[in-house]
Amino acid sequence: MNHIAVIGGGTMGRGIAYTAALAGFEVTLQDISEEAITNAREYIENLLKKNVEKGHIQFHQETEAKKNLSYTTQLHEAVHKTDFVIEAALEIMELKINIFKQLDEFAPAHAILATNTSTMSPTEIAASTKRPEQCIAMHFFNPVHRMKLIEVIRGLDTSDATVEVVKQVAEKMGKETVEVNEFPGFVTSRMNCLIGNEAMNMLMEGVASEEDIDKALKLGLNHPMGPLELADLVGLDSRLRNMEYLYHQLGEKYRPSPLLVKYVKAGRLGRKSGRGFFEYNNK
Ligand code: NAD
Repeated sequence: MNHIAVIGGGTMGRGIAYTAALAGFEVTLQDISEEAITNAREYIENLLKKNVEKGHIQFHQETEAKKNLSYTTQLHEAVHKTDFVIEAALEIMELKINIFKQLDEFAPAHAILATNTSTMSPTEIAASTKRPEQCIAMHFFNPVHRMKLIEVIRGLDTSDATVEVVKQVAEKMGKETVEVNEFPGFVTSRMNCLIGNEAMNMLMEGVASEEDIDKALKLGLNHPMGPLELADLVGLDSRLRNMEYLYHQLGEKYRPSPLLVKYVKAGRLGRKSGRGFFEYNNK
């Protein structure tokens, strides 16, 4: 297991690429957008530099990680010699199915195909390939370099051997795993989406301010981050897609908060756009 291809260079893809390169894997990060690739490269190189300055990593690790990384907009180039693919494109089932069809065509027969979906069925994604036993969901958390957990979700046909390799890759990246049976939203997204949605509905109803809702959960319930601050970090567009999927799969309880829908329509996407429930200086 030498090479990992990461598909999608947004919030999650670049974090996964950073963590994998630092763990010693050769990594190719692919995105269809030239701009996303430029931003991802800048993000990764800045993070490496900052972590050397802070003493979290050694200078030689920064040099090695940079050497391990390559970037491309071409899917074939990213995966044709890879051992392991982690797809982190948008949370849209049709898109993931389309990407997996191409991965199945271009990646070597031995390669494992993992999706970083937050909510969706790895079985449905795997069904578009001729290797469902080598397909799996590997759910990372944001920011990837700091969050310890990876949820591992087997599809219907995922083999034990695939699960074993995924656990080894996770361990090499310094992560802990939990194995979850396939069900929409797994453990973490199902729970977290509900908490966040309730916070948004409370804000809409005027129960408390953004600051006080977050403060209440942090100081009263011991959450490390407030639910509104966390939704801003995830990206409100990503959160809305998660809610819509859960709403369609699991019903009324998961109907996206109208406030979330309104913010996304306004382009208030959270940290990545500079404004969501709170304002950010992205410079
Ligand atoms: P994002 O919007 O930040 O980035 C998505 C990237 O995918 C963009 O750069 C886009 O250009 C690229 N893309 C779109 N179509 C593509 C294609 N056909 N091929 C290659 N790249 C393509 O999204 P994100 O927040 O990084 O989410 C990515 C995945 O990770 C989603 O499935 C999401 O549910 C999941 N996830 C997100 C979080 C989070 O906190 N944001 C946490 C865990 C899992």
